[in-house]
Amino acid sequence: MASKGMIKTAEEIEILREGGKRLARILSAVRDAIKPGVTTGELDKLAEKLMREGGDEPAFLHYTPEGMVIPYPGTLCVSVNDEIVHGIGGDRVLKEGDIIGIDTGLKHKGLFTDSALTVPVGEIDDIAKKLIATTEGALMAGIAAARGGNTTGDIGHAIEKYVKERGFVVVEELGGHGVGYKQHEDPHISNYGDKGQGMKLKPGMVLALEPIVNEGTRYIKLMSDGYTYVTRDHKRSAHFEHTILITDGDAEILTKRA
Ligand code: MG
Ligand code: MG
Repeated sequence: MASKGMIKTAEEIEILREGGKRLARILSAVRDAIKPGVTTGELDKLAEKLMREGGDEPAFLHYTPEGMVIPYPGTLCVSVNDEIVHGIGGDRVLKEGDIIGIDTGLKHKGLFTDSALTVPVGEIDDIAKKLIATTEGALMAGIAAARGGNTTGDIGHAIEKYVKERGFVVVEELGGHGVGYKQHEDPHISNYGDKGQGMKLKPGMVLALEPIVNEGTRYIKLMSDGYTYVTRDHKRSAHFEHTILITDGDAEILTKRA
């Protein structure tokens, strides 16, 4: 029986677990292919090929988010340096010193999982290293706060605090979300907030948490392609995301990479 609601059934959770595992393996393969000279188009094709080989569908490809007119043209969102999220891959050559955010979704037996990471291209500078480590740490801080009985505000608070303490800023316009039969379901999960505020988390909820962290200003700009967000000051941005299952204790990370 399909729950079609925020609390997933045991059957749905099994499918999401398997989908999450597959998505994690694919993201690891894409991560391992990143080096100077590789093009974003090659990475996109690799991800699509691996998803289809597994009998699954790329969730982003041809997906039209609410409010958009043009369907998304790639399997991956590829956001390089000052690009924040939803960067269209195209066929750009990666250079030593770039940082690249890779975000993708997978549809396995009708259910979606969603995950992202930011990867250094060759050797990167110390600020970029700290930005990446902070964003990944913020995701883990958010996951630690994502326990049954806590609230979406607890997650946002944990993420924002972790980022601020390390001298960076979160993007306020973009955030996490429920996930399941749709790529984006309720609730929205801001990467900032107040403890105890927002929606109460219940075991069986499946959420995509995704801190988006900027090196300089928090302000963003949407490019004319309608998808790619960039930082207004053109300093860099990083993004990590996991799909998690809320339980009575520690959340289960469904898209955990080996
Ligand atoms: Mg994503
Ligand atoms: Mg997401």
